[in-house]
Amino acid sequence: MKLRTRITLLFTIITASIVMIFGISIYLVAKENRQKEFYTLLEKEAITKINLFLDAEVDTKTLQNIYRSNREILNEVEVAIYNESFELIYHDAVDIDFVKETPEMLEEIVANERISFYQEDWQVIGLLYAYGDQKYIVTAAAYDEYGYTKLASLLYTLLLAFGISIVVIFVSGLYISKQAFDPLKDMSEKAKIISATNLDLRLNTSDSQDELSELAITFNEMLNRLETSFDAQKDFVSNISHELRTPLASIVTELELALDTQSEKTDYHEVISNTLSDAKKLVRLSNSLLDFAKASYDPSEISFKNLRMDELLMDARQDLLHHNPNFTIDIQFDMKWLSDSNDDQISVNGNEYLLQVALTNLLENGCKYSKDNTCKVTISGEKSVEKQNIVIKVQDFGIGIRKKDLPHIFTPFYRGKNQNFVDGNGIGMSLTKKIIDLHQGEINVKSKVNKGTTFTVKLPSL
Ligand code: ADP
Repeated sequence: MKLRTRITLLFTIITASIVMIFGISIYLVAKENRQKEFYTLLEKEAITKINLFLDAEVDTKTLQNIYRSNREILNEVEVAIYNESFELIYHDAVDIDFVKETPEMLEEIVANERISFYQEDWQVIGLLYAYGDQKYIVTAAAYDEYGYTKLASLLYTLLLAFGISIVVIFVSGLYISKQAFDPLKDMSEKAKIISATNLDLRLNTSDSQDELSELAITFNEMLNRLETSFDAQKDFVSNISHELRTPLASIVTELELALDTQSEKTDYHEVISNTLSDAKKLVRLSNSLLDFAKASYDPSEISFKNLRMDELLMDARQDLLHHNPNFTIDIQFDMKWLSDSNDDQISVNGNEYLLQVALTNLLENGCKYSKDNTCKVTISGEKSVEKQNIVIKVQDFGIGIRKKDLPHIFTPFYRGKNQNFVDGNGIGMSLTKKIIDLHQGEINVKSKVNKGTTFTVKLPSL
């Protein structure tokens, strides 16, 4: 069953129950009141008649005539009067005599002074009445036709009102739930047509600050994030294809040239050397991409251990110099910090391979983008209230980065205007940032064109 129907039914049942309890209470109170009022009326009639009979000394015939003529038009009260010896001294109509007074009944009246009961639908009242020094027993009985008609009409009205109110409640419940659920239905319809090909579609939002509009806003924000990451993925794939295509196309051209039978031995040598250089580019790219994928893993899937940053830095330097003997990397340690710190304060909890990659990228760029292939590195510590950081600064005095390029250098495949200066694929800095983020650190860059660049990395120590 749909939520909308369920809520409507629940709303109808609850409201109908309240209306029903209300109606039943009204009916029961009216029923009780009718009974009480009619007994009071019977009592008054009985007393009036006994007074007429005893006090005003109206004769029996006249009283009986009044009873009979009244009986034609209304439900006249039938009265009987007995003396103390239980002898009948007056009766409105002995031939009708609806209430058959038995000696037991009369005794009960004497004992209780007042009794009341039902005989079929008739209400009967028995009274002990004192007049002078005599006591009389009076019974009065009648059918409350007027009261019952009023009660029946009340019941009919209540049932009709109940029926109508159920219909009204159900219809208004349907209307209210429709009003409440229509926006949800619209959202669901819209959400159904949003797919990878039209991620730019958004749910309608209203100015009202209700929960549904909040939901739509949250959903749209999620779509914004999805669209951004989807676009980034698309860019990433197209960038990879581009980066792969260029060296591959050049390898194909070189090899086609080599197939030329006229080619000299020296030509072959050049072809092989060019092809090798392109193949190396491809290897670098695929290695970078593999590292990028690793750094994008869930941190829980990457193995972390305690690593001394000074040692990591030295290893990165050595590795880089091994492959690039023309580079100069000058590392300076903050000796005071080093001597004041224990092992934990110069160590981080990290992944050795990934941190090595990040440091190598920074050092390599520092040397790569400087004419003298030199960079200077300092390692020190920084204390704040809640944590302690290891700070690594990689500074070069090379060609620098344009202000316009600075915000983008951490975007995968982005290469600055200065890219023509040296070979690259635009992965290094984005990969480095990913790795630093993975280690809960931060990376900042300051640069001036033709003056140089400084990267500052802060990593929380143990
Ligand atoms: P690339 O393979 O092009 O070096 P990176 O991701 O390592 O890619 O760097 C992205 C861009 O940032 C580079 O193309 C370059 O424009 C700029 N860059 C990074 N480091 C330096 C630096 N030390 N000096 C000058 N420019 C740099």
